[in-house]
Amino acid sequence: MDARILLLPGDGIGPEVVAEAVRVLDAVAGRYGHRFTYRTGLVGGAAIDRYGDPLPGPTRDALRECDAILLGAVGGPRWDHGAVRPEAGLLALRYELGLYANLRPATLFEGLEAASPLRPEVVRGTDFLIVRELTGGLYFGKPKERDGHQAVDTMRYTAAEVERVARVAFRAARGRRRKVHSVDKANVLETSRLWRDVVSQVAEEFPDVALEHLLVDTCAMQLVQKPTTFDVILTENTFGDILSDEAAAVVGSIGLLPSASLGERPPFLYEPVHGSAPDLAGRGVANPLGTILSAALMLRYSFGLAVEAEAVEEAVREVVREGVTTPDLGGRAGTQEVGAAVAERVLRRET
Ligand code: NAD
Repeated sequence: MDARILLLPGDGIGPEVVAEAVRVLDAVAGRYGHRFTYRTGLVGGAAIDRYGDPLPGPTRDALRECDAILLGAVGGPRWDHGAVRPEAGLLALRYELGLYANLRPATLFEGLEAASPLRPEVVRGTDFLIVRELTGGLYFGKPKERDGHQAVDTMRYTAAEVERVARVAFRAARGRRRKVHSVDKANVLETSRLWRDVVSQVAEEFPDVALEHLLVDTCAMQLVQKPTTFDVILTENTFGDILSDEAAAVVGSIGLLPSASLGERPPFLYEPVHGSAPDLAGRGVANPLGTILSAALMLRYSFGLAVEAEAVEEAVREVVREGVTTPDLGGRAGTQEVGAAVAERVLRRET
C-alpha cells in the first residue's frame, strides 16, 4: 500500500525517537512491499520558535494532506514561561482532528518484571488497553472560569460522546480477551450515571463482550492489586489521564508505552506516552520503543496492516528479551542501536 505519513517530531528527544520509528517503518515497507512517504512539520516549542504558534498554519495545512500522523513530544523548560505553551499545540491538534478516543496499551514485557514497582508474581502477564475519552469532560467543559477566590470547571458529557468512545472500546475488546471494565464515579457524579447508562446500552450491541462497571477509586486500587484481571478499561477524560499514568508505572518504563488517538475519520495521531525528556535530549540515550510501538499501532489502526504491526511488536519483544535496551530499562544501548536492532529483526522476519 501507499501511505502519506506526517511526522511531527516536536521538541527534546522527540526528533531522536521519531527518526528510529521511521527507520522501522522503512524496514516494514522494504520487507512487506509498501510505500510510505513522509512529510515533516513543526509543532510545540519548535513551532513557537519559528512562527510564534505551537500549531502553525503550514502544519495545520499538512494535517489535511496525510493519512496518519506520528508525533514525538512537545515542551521543555525553554518555553515554560512564554505567553503560549507548546502543549497548547497538542491539545489544538487533538481537538481540531476530533480525536475523541485515546488508546493506550499497557503490557509487561517478558524480561522486564524488575522494571515494575509491583512484585513479579503480581505483575507478570499484565496486558490491558485503556480507552480514554479525549475531547470531552472537565478539560473542555464550559464555563471554565476564575473569579477572585472562586474557580469553576465544568464536567459535561453528551450521550453521543459516550456512545462513540464506548464503541471503540467494545470493538477493541473483540480483538482481545472480550472484556470491558467501564470506569466511572456513578455513586456521586451525574455525568457518570449517564456514562453508565449509555455504556450499558452500547454493550447490548456486543453480546460476545463481557461488561463490568467499576468505580474509579476501586479501579485505581485494583490496577496495582491485580493488574492481570483487566483487558479493556473504558473511561472518561480525567479519570483516563490519571489511570493511564498509573498503568505506565505498573508496567515499568514510560519510554516503552505507545498511544493512538482515533476519531471519526483519518488522519489519526500516534505518539509515545512520554514527554520531551529535556534531561536526555541530544544524548542519544532516549528509549525509542514507545514511538516504534506507536508506529505499530499506526500500521494496525490507520492502515489495517495487522501482520506488519505484529511483526514490529514481536521484534520489540525480541530486542527487549535479548537485553538490547537503553539505560532506562537497565541496558547500555543507544537510541539508534535499539532502533536498528528492531528494524533488522523486521527485515529478517519470515512471515
Ligand atoms: P517526561 O516524560 O519528558 O520525562 C519523565 C521522566 O521519564 C524523565 O526522567 C525522563 O528522562 C524519562 N523519560 C521520558 N521519556 C523517556 C524515554 N523515551 N526514554 C527514557 N527515559 C524517558 O515528563 P516531564 O519531565 O514531566 O516533562 C518534560 C517536558 O515534556 C515538559 O515540558 C512537559 O510539559 C512535556 N510533556 C509532553 C508530553 C507530550 O508531548 N505528549 C507529555 C508529557 C510531558
